[in-house]
Amino acid sequence: MGFPSSFLCAQSHLQGAFWQAKIQVDFWTFFGDFLRLVTEEKKNPQRIHKFLSKEMTFRAAVVVATDVVREMQSIQNTYPLATMAVGRSMVAASLMASQLKSQQQVSLYFRGDGPLEMFFAEATHEGQVRGYTPQPQLEMPVEGGELSVSKAIGSGLLSVVHSRPQQKAPQKGTVSLQTGEVGEDVAFYLLQSQQVRSLVALGVKVNSYGLVQGAGGVLIELMPGCPEETVERLESNLKKAGSLSELVSQGISAADLLKPYVDGIEMMELEHPYELAYQCRCSRERLARALVLLGEEEVKSMIANNESAKARCEFCGRPYEIEVSELSELLQKMQSESH
Ligand SMILES: [Zn+2]
Repeated sequence: MGFPSSFLCAQSHLQGAFWQAKIQVDFWTFFGDFLRLVTEEKKNPQRIHKFLSKEMTFRAAVVVATDVVREMQSIQNTYPLATMAVGRSMVAASLMASQLKSQQQVSLYFRGDGPLEMFFAEATHEGQVRGYTPQPQLEMPVEGGELSVSKAIGSGLLSVVHSRPQQKAPQKGTVSLQTGEVGEDVAFYLLQSQQVRSLVALGVKVNSYGLVQGAGGVLIELMPGCPEETVERLESNLKKAGSLSELVSQGISAADLLKPYVDGIEMMELEHPYELAYQCRCSRERLARALVLLGEEEVKSMIANNESAKARCEFCGRPYEIEVSELSELLQKMQSESH
């Protein structure tokens, strides 16, 4: 004997309502997840994380910097070689600047005899970073499946400029390029100029479309008197750490990125609450000054023809129009300063 038909009806009716309710719950769960994702991304901007070993034998700074390197790429339309060179130097400058005092900044200038000529990055302690190369679209043959920043920059020099707001003249140190791959060069600079032994691991991964898939880095600086067994541990960790650019491309967090490098060593995190941001300190005044410095004759003829100057900041892409009155004012000021 079957169930009365009215019961079946009631059940299927109930089931229908159940499915409807479930779909609604699913929708809201999905929507909630989506919202959480969006807000988390906003709440969780990329920043440098700083650590000290519990025994105070070394300090570490680590960052996932994919967003700022992407921004640099979208402004300057860099091809993979320039993206890697400028990106790595931006990561290195950010990490170095995080270890300075507030309001201080560091600039890295790589100059070489290779076709890339130069690349540059600058970062403040508070996480503002920018980078540049005059050869954003340089292409070179790929050897052994890898692009070589080293070959692109050639042999040359790394200059590091450390600016402090209270001091008029910044401190500058120059070393010869070791490999031109950025990390080793920065480590060599730290050893030569600051007498600091360090480990610098940097990675920028560009996908087959030439877009930045991940960027990040680790800077470990030994304190004076760091025991040899700690050094050995760090060195053996480094050998086992694997590819940093692969890890950042997989979306790893900064704290997790450091873990393989400090495996077996107790660390404590230090306060460093600044968001990493691609930021430029360009202004109309600075740009007008640069224009007048670079082409005094041209600026004079523009003033004579009553033409305003249109220029675009190469670091951030911001367009400027500088009026004739502003140009002539600056020209006068600079001429009176030089006499
Ligand atoms: Zn700018």
